[in-house]
Amino acid sequence: MVASTSRMAVSTSDVIILSATLPSPGILFSPNGLAPLTPREHQDLKRIARAVRRDLLLCITEAGSGHPGGSLSEVETLVSLYFRVLRHNPRHPQWPDRDRFILSKGHACPGLYAVLAHRGYFPLQDLLTFRKIDSHLQGHTRVGTPGVEMSAGSLGHGLSFATGVALAGRVDRRGYRTYALLGDGECDEGQVWEAAMSAAHYKVDTLTAIVDRNRIQNDRFTSEVMELEPFAAKWKAFGWRVLTVNGHSFPQLLNAFARAQATQGRPTVIIANTIKGKGVSFMENNPDFHGKAPTKAQLEQALRELGVAAEEGYQPLTWERMP
Ligand SMILES: [Mg+2]
Repeated sequence: MVASTSRMAVSTSDVIILSATLPSPGILFSPNGLAPLTPREHQDLKRIARAVRRDLLLCITEAGSGHPGGSLSEVETLVSLYFRVLRHNPRHPQWPDRDRFILSKGHACPGLYAVLAHRGYFPLQDLLTFRKIDSHLQGHTRVGTPGVEMSAGSLGHGLSFATGVALAGRVDRRGYRTYALLGDGECDEGQVWEAAMSAAHYKVDTLTAIVDRNRIQNDRFTSEVMELEPFAAKWKAFGWRVLTVNGHSFPQLLNAFARAQATQGRPTVIIANTIKGKGVSFMENNPDFHGKAPTKAQLEQALRELGVAAEEGYQPLTWERMP
């Protein structure tokens, strides 16, 4: 089925079905690991990111509530992880040796749900049940949704949880890696720094934190609420390797993940400089869209700006099957 602007204007339900043309990966994981991107692979990742942006906006609009800003800013990070970095198996979400991903900024779950759906953890059509009673896709992440590792929403806990998960992997002698995505606003929480101190003390080099540095928390700019700078220097002082990247650049993100994986004796934090509301002009850098759904008219404008009609001709990535 081919996307068109006229069709987009019909209804959110019609539009999301178009996503069914994307590949259903089956028993697959970790294509090509951390190898450099070919131009074709880079284009594929961009197409996936565009489809994820489309679908997270659709599900928020359908629900009439949700958090678009921080979902849009994290898209490249999530797509990098789930389509290039993580060893995981969508058909066996509890596979004991899977890499763990913890979304600490649990309110940004529409982005995660869209990525999990595109990766085959559950049907894309489930996105339309977002925030509905009895749906497994609630307004903040909860354990029970396939692929979700931690119930979240109360901010500041994800890095502590991830540190524990990573240490458990060491005790259990499993080779998995653990990734935690934090919002910059939640770095105001003291518990984040307790976790930072602990992870460095225990030399948890299988742990990678990513901070979605979009410089907005809730309805204000982080610099107004609580100045985080010099942010990188703080992490470094706590004993972490610090990598700062453009959080919308796949090559930069993937390079940082590769460097994190090669780091021994200390955890790594990737400070991903992003734009809240990335990809939609009236949401970009606009605190109003932290936790507000677009109207149907705004959705149509957003979809036009994202250029989702360009999804025509989508080509699946080359996957590597599980042994
Ligand atoms: Mg933020």
